[in-house]
Amino acid sequence: MLLRCPTKNETRCILFDTLFGTNSAPIVLIDPENDGAIVDANRKALEFYGYSREEFRQLHVWDINTLGRSVLTVMREISSWSGGHYPQRFRHRLADGTVRDVQVYAGPVQLMDQKLLLCIVQDVTQVIEAEQFNRLLLESVSIGVCGIDDQGMFTFVNPEAVRAFGFRHESEVIKLGIHRFLGGADHPVEGEAHRVLQAAANGTAVQRLESVMRRADGTPFPVRLVASPIRVGDQVKGAVLSFTDLTREREREEQVADLIDAIPGVVFQAVLPPSGRFEVTYFNGAAKSFLGIGGNDDPTSTDVLSSLLTRSTWIGLLRSLKRSAFRLHSWEREFQINGGDDGKWLLGRARTRRQPNGDVVFNGVLLDITDRKLLEARLEDAALTDPLTGLRNRRHFEIVLKASEKRHTAAGNPYSLMVIDIDHFKQLNDRHGHNAGDDMLRLVADTLRLRSRQSDCVARWGGEEFAVLLPGTALALATALANDIRGAVSAARPAVDGLSVSIGVGEVALGETATALFKRVDAALYRAKANGRNRVELA
Ligand code: GH3
Ligand code: MG
Ligand code: MG
Repeated sequence: MLLRCPTKNETRCILFDTLFGTNSAPIVLIDPENDGAIVDANRKALEFYGYSREEFRQLHVWDINTLGRSVLTVMREISSWSGGHYPQRFRHRLADGTVRDVQVYAGPVQLMDQKLLLCIVQDVTQVIEAEQFNRLLLESVSIGVCGIDDQGMFTFVNPEAVRAFGFRHESEVIKLGIHRFLGGADHPVEGEAHRVLQAAANGTAVQRLESVMRRADGTPFPVRLVASPIRVGDQVKGAVLSFTDLTREREREEQVADLIDAIPGVVFQAVLPPSGRFEVTYFNGAAKSFLGIGGNDDPTSTDVLSSLLTRSTWIGLLRSLKRSAFRLHSWEREFQINGGDDGKWLLGRARTRRQPNGDVVFNGVLLDITDRKLLEARLEDAALTDPLTGLRNRRHFEIVLKASEKRHTAAGNPYSLMVIDIDHFKQLNDRHGHNAGDDMLRLVADTLRLRSRQSDCVARWGGEEFAVLLPGTALALATALANDIRGAVSAARPAVDGLSVSIGVGEVALGETATALFKRVDAALYRAKANGRNRVELA
């Protein structure tokens, strides 16, 4: 037989080259009856497997096929076929030990008196890798992907689609059509669902459609879907449908909505462009009644919002928002809306986030802190009030005195000071009892309150001593007021006789500190005591 000729024979080589040499695919000739011996191979095959021709012809098919000897059974079966070549996938080992995935088109050939097997080998390693990659991709994505033919029957479904449809295995789904999973239960293929089928039938793509699909048991689930037609040449061969199950997303949206409703205030979103106007972009439903916005007014309108605040509050608010935006810090501010005594106090709190375009977005809440503010005011008031007489206490008086000193230093504003001390109070206490003493303290306090002016600050300095600060008041007027008070106290008719006060009074000298003035007035009071009590002495 010509090809089996073991000796180097010119005729055989010429014929071999004619047969195989010009072919660009690797071709191997195998004798299935002779233990799968490799009879010959073309240059491409020798290049591919990495053997010299002599080496290669020493080998058998089971040397290069990873199946080993069991490949012989396959070989024999193929060689019994008549006619065309049938592609088979194998793994072949090359001379350097690497293994490649190959597709072999093997078919029987009659060469002279021998029945051989002609194998055209195609290296499909890369194709298989790509297929595997695609498969892995389809398996690992969290979106449902399925192929449908022009009738809407499935050609493939990925695991996520199988899960979303409520099945366990691909084989359960593949025999069904998309009709089963689209649209409402009563109207299987209508409206939006119909468009998906159109994509498959006539190539009209469907972009990001929010729709509803049904699981195996009929429960609907929200989806966002895309349908892309598959075109081969001019023809539409169905479509690829990909969808995202929005069940979780919707649940989260509902959760957020519930949370927003549960907040005892208002949720807002606002935006501050780098050089633009602050704008509220979102308020939840509670905003209008919370802010007391009536009628058809839009609560997000800047005009409507600014009308709720005094001008200085609004400006302060904008400034604080800008500061937070600039530093990308959280924003927090307490402010009052709707002014006046019944005005609501709000606490605004927001997180800032910079958008890619430079805008700063505020996500936050407005809470009603009116009760807290009132309580704080009451506590603050209590901390500055003398409980026995209801007058301001020493702490408050010192604050006011400091403020007067400051104004005097800064602008030369005049003020006067009066220090009042009850005469022989110890004796009165001792003689008539502590309760009677308290009554007298209250009587003096009432007299002071009644005789002083709104702008004066009257305080119980301590014990049976009182102080009055008279802003913008010169000594003459302060002295007149002191005398008036002294007279009123001694003319009062308390339960017991003998109530009188001594008063020291003085006006601040230019540049004098409050402490120095107080000392002078205190010295004047001392003189009033020394000079017989129930009198006024000037500092
Ligand atoms: P002088 O005319 O020199 O001021 O004599 P005085 O007795 O008024 O002065 P002194 O400082 O010796 O006594 C003040 C008294 O005031 C002593 C104290 O028992 C009494 N006192 C202080 N605080 C209270 C109070 O809250 N209630 C009553 N009932 N007495 C008080
Ligand atoms: Mg005293
Ligand atoms: Mg006294």
